[in-house]
Amino acid sequence: MSLYPLDARPDHSSSLDISSGRYGEIDLRTELMKTIFGFGSEISKGIPILIRRLRRDSTTLARIKCECVDELTMEPDLDVLCPFCLGEGFKWDEEWHKCYKTVSGSEGSLSRRIEYKGAGKILDETYKFYFPYDANLIQGDRIVEVMLDVEGQIIEPAKRITVWNPNTIENKRLDNGRTEYYIVSCQNSNAIYIDKDTLSYVENP
Ligand SMILES: [Zn+2]
Repeated sequence: MSLYPLDARPDHSSSLDISSGRYGEIDLRTELMKTIFGFGSEISKGIPILIRRLRRDSTTLARIKCECVDELTMEPDLDVLCPFCLGEGFKWDEEWHKCYKTVSGSEGSLSRRIEYKGAGKILDETYKFYFPYDANLIQGDRIVEVMLDVEGQIIEPAKRITVWNPNTIENKRLDNGRTEYYIVSCQNSNAIYIDKDTLSYVENP
């Protein structure tokens, strides 16, 4: 029995012209692009955001340590933010993207897989970020929020305010196995908040 021949697979374009898929189904990749970026009369629902990708050794794929990491403790200096890695301890690059952000409550199982709980009551809100198919997110990437004004525009010069360390990055593969979009699940207790004025860490607000 032969498998579905590779060269007979239907060609799937990512063009925004195909608002409903080749087989009459809704094209989720296109719909999410329209939601985030806007299209025609549809207003963009996305917010500008940074994806921080850690640099990796091309052979071993190990993360590349920043010069600020102490050889003995293997920790970056967390009292004074290193101007190169901003306390990450590893070298990275950031890119501008757009995503749709929503609160998913405090019981989202995908966003609470890694937990450290102290004594007492905490509000550990969880969030989901929806990214388009070309965001190419992988585990280990960070999501960095910047200050926005009330109209959703970046306040210049851009200031990082929250660095999210995702618990789960879900690559939503649907039509013919292609990536339609990404859902990134994060929680408060696993994020780093930066004071916008002093550029130092602040307690979970
Ligand atoms: Zn550093």
